[in-house]
Amino acid sequence: MARSIYFHSLGCRLNQAEVEGIARRFAAAGWTVVRDPVQADLCVVNTCAVTAQAERKTRHLLNALHRANPTARIAAIGCLATLEPQRLSAVDGVAWVVPNGEKDRVGEIVTGQEVPAPSFATAPLLRTRAFVKVQDGCDNRCTYCVVWRLRGPARSRPLEEVVAEVQTLTQAGCQEAVLTGVNLGGYGRDLGLEGGLRRLVETILARTDLPRLRLSSLEPWDVSAPFFDLWAEPRLCRQIHLPLQSGCDATLRRMGRRITVERYARLVEAARAAIPGLALTTDVIVGFPGEDEAAHEESLAFIRRMGFARLHVFPFSPRPGTPAARMTGQVPLPVRRERARQMGVLGARLAQSFQQRFVGQEMMVLWERRQSGGLWRGLTDNYIRVVTRSTGDLSNSLVPTRLVSARESVLVGEVAW
Ligand code: SF4
Repeated sequence: MARSIYFHSLGCRLNQAEVEGIARRFAAAGWTVVRDPVQADLCVVNTCAVTAQAERKTRHLLNALHRANPTARIAAIGCLATLEPQRLSAVDGVAWVVPNGEKDRVGEIVTGQEVPAPSFATAPLLRTRAFVKVQDGCDNRCTYCVVWRLRGPARSRPLEEVVAEVQTLTQAGCQEAVLTGVNLGGYGRDLGLEGGLRRLVETILARTDLPRLRLSSLEPWDVSAPFFDLWAEPRLCRQIHLPLQSGCDATLRRMGRRITVERYARLVEAARAAIPGLALTTDVIVGFPGEDEAAHEESLAFIRRMGFARLHVFPFSPRPGTPAARMTGQVPLPVRRERARQMGVLGARLAQSFQQRFVGQEMMVLWERRQSGGLWRGLTDNYIRVVTRSTGDLSNSLVPTRLVSARESVLVGEVAW
């Protein structure tokens, strides 16, 4: 009787949250969740279709899983399973292709019987930092994006359900929960929930003892200056991920983004004024159709001015059926790659100067796991990666740590105990 199962999530935090939810179901139903696919009878892969590169990664992973364990049956679920079901079902080892609309039934589809959601009281804790899905779908129409088509209209989970899940994760020892969705900033709009995301955050902080709450990506047009007052509560992590996508207004208009660079800059100013030590992180697309050298330089200059703590850079990837894929002025791939390289260099420099500011300070670090070589890896609330050596067991502990030096993309810490 097949009883061991392996999970892998590609792409966004929402995919990660969904996989954690499904894994908790199987674990509560008596299955063994294994970290090595070689030991698995079943593998579940939450796929991604946001870029052509994400598609390639998905296919590569499915082939690698089948080579590593030819007897395991694979379920390919999620966005690429929604976009390209036929092509995925032709991949060796793939026994099930489950689109987004059917994801909640993946247990039943692969086992032939219902795998009920565990009562929150029994849900096992699978990670130090738990991703919690609070919303799905999107009503925006950015011209380069397929996500809204693959995940459908915006819809929110009931507030009480989310609070109950966070309470259970906290009781199970979770130190940090990350609220995630496709369009988190629109949380509650479809429920007519007054205050929306603000109300959800306030309720979680008021009704649970969760040590750290983090928000994932927020569209800039969904937040305004008063929203940042929430950070008066120190349990709310000082990281805001605010996708910019381009630092050039003409490009933003062609992207269908409902923001201008000056409005974005004012929002950033308000956030920084309200939240000392804030890590502002973002996404940027380079080489969007119609982006000439001047527009690219304008984007670089604006991003330099914003001084982001972390930059996720995406060379434009034409997605099937999107307006951007049909636009004139497509930028040649080598140019897109070169612009991504330039933006990446800038991003690395900005990230280093951001984390350098905290050397010498003592901060609370959530230590997650020991890597090979005995180094522990942890994270501050403002998204700085920290490493340390310790003979003690630091796993899943929030500990005051002196940040003594910088090393490439991490800071070195000394645990103050
Ligand atoms: S906000 Fe724009 S980029 Fe994000 S999921 Fe919606 S349509 Fe796509």
